[in-house]
Amino acid sequence: MADASYDVIVVGAGFGGSACAGLLARRGLRVLLVEKNARAGGKAMSISKNGFTYTAWVVIGAPLIGNLYQTVAKELGVEDRFQLIAPSNSGSFYRTAAGKYTKIPSMEPGQMDPTAVFDWLEVKPEDRDAALNFFMQLTMLPAEEIDKLHRVSFEEWIRAYKIPPSLYAFLVSSCCDGMFMVPVDLLEAAEAIKSLQDMFLRHGGVFCHGGYGQVAEAYCEAVRRQGGTVLMKTKTERILVEDGKVTGVVTSQGTFRAPIVISNAGLQPTVLKLVGEQHFSADYVKYTKTLVPSWALLGSRYFLRHPVIDTAYGAVFSDTSPWTLDRLNKAHAGQASREGVLYYEVPSNYDPTAAPPGKQIVLTGSFCPPSPQMTSEEIAAWARAGEEILFNAFPGMDEAIEDKELYTPKDVSNLTRECVLPGVGGETIGLGQVVGQCGADKPTIAAPLRGLFFVGCDAGGTGVGTQQAIESGMHVADAVLAFHQAAKAAA
Ligand SMILES: Cc1cc2nc3c(=O)[nH]c(=O)nc-3n(C[C@H](O)[C@H](O)[C@H](O)COP(=O)(O)OP(=O)(O)OC[C@H]3O[C@@H](n4cnc5c(N)ncnc54)[C@H](O)[C@@H]3O)c2cc1C
Repeated sequence: MADASYDVIVVGAGFGGSACAGLLARRGLRVLLVEKNARAGGKAMSISKNGFTYTAWVVIGAPLIGNLYQTVAKELGVEDRFQLIAPSNSGSFYRTAAGKYTKIPSMEPGQMDPTAVFDWLEVKPEDRDAALNFFMQLTMLPAEEIDKLHRVSFEEWIRAYKIPPSLYAFLVSSCCDGMFMVPVDLLEAAEAIKSLQDMFLRHGGVFCHGGYGQVAEAYCEAVRRQGGTVLMKTKTERILVEDGKVTGVVTSQGTFRAPIVISNAGLQPTVLKLVGEQHFSADYVKYTKTLVPSWALLGSRYFLRHPVIDTAYGAVFSDTSPWTLDRLNKAHAGQASREGVLYYEVPSNYDPTAAPPGKQIVLTGSFCPPSPQMTSEEIAAWARAGEEILFNAFPGMDEAIEDKELYTPKDVSNLTRECVLPGVGGETIGLGQVVGQCGADKPTIAAPLRGLFFVGCDAGGTGVGTQQAIESGMHVADAVLAFHQAAKAAA
């Protein structure tokens, strides 16, 4: 197999890499997709263990209507390879001023009754008109107005509306923090508003039967069906460069040649390690090093003797949950509370076959820094903060635990992108969707090195995690096809 040559090599079968590889194979290019793990899916890989099936951590998809998981699967002819499941019951919990955990009122899936939500959030009667007006503005803001908010933070935009603290916490903690994993005062308003509109108008909370990794595995199957090659357990050690152009990759399974390499391994690891700083200008290397990652989730997989939670997914939050950069930094330094929002997902409440009969699996996650180098004390402190919220919101949970696995940013980094800079690598999303890194300021798909492209959450997409990665895969496939055709025409 060594020295085989292709039109394009894709490094990494995350959602971005696998979607892009599938689309390029479908459009007739000779594609090699190499993935270091045994399964595709990257940060949303599926796991099966002891009769439980789940995504590695809390992964909930959106939107329900018009999502890209299915758009790409249809184009690739693999839509029958995975099954998305809409939630029958979501279950966010608000901790009231009196310290009571109250569940969001039950509403038809996809329906949101503002009065019921305001009652739940204890919004005072005199504040309701302003709150309703805010919701209307948010959901109806036209695309051209959203476009003007690329260099504004969501915090700056939302503050102008003076909405009650509980509604602010609902939007920021339960929605934005989870979708973007960056503090609200850094989060780009245009990204946030577009995704919130999607969530309210096209709904969310979608689960994938067998775990989300099934989607990426379906895209890999499409590569094979189109005559492409997919090599799992194949780590790319180096991207080869000759005369200022990429020429292939060196992997644990041999060397492969192609004039185009698309990296799903993360922009920073690709530039600083796989290609090497020496092939880029000093300015680009400096720029690469200053890019800001999203923050991380840390949490546990709880394998329960018997069901404790009767809802499929949700967030547990209070008025004091929303994160700001200052509070995050202080919490990390042990100078402020680590209590933020907690996300949970119960795969077996979407799909009863996800757990052995009579048992339940619960996945949780709460904010922490993306550093794979956190000390065991720091990890324990962040884990304690998340677990305290879980046990308070769901009494009886601690006694039902049969087994428990903690996951940390180090696990996320080991599974997906390498740590090439101090404190970076375990990020939940990829590069953060912060002011200065979105819209026209987003890193470009094409690297300043002929034939090298980036795919995944770092470049080329917008929106929430997995959707963003797939959107990037679609855009990169278009750009690479054009590049390939132009190169052929010029040859
Ligand atoms: C804890 C957690 C919770 C999340 N929750 C949600 C959620 O609820 N909803 C949502 O939409 N998103 C969620 N996400 C985010 C989402 O999973 C990611 O944003 C998205 O999957 C990233 O896709 P990607 O294509 O950019 O890259 P990745 O998933 O990072 O994939 C990169 C791939 O490249 C491979 N690779 C890297 N280096 C090499 C190499 N040298 N050689 C070969 N292969 C290599 C990796 O193994 C991996 O498979 C969550 C992520 C985490 C970690």
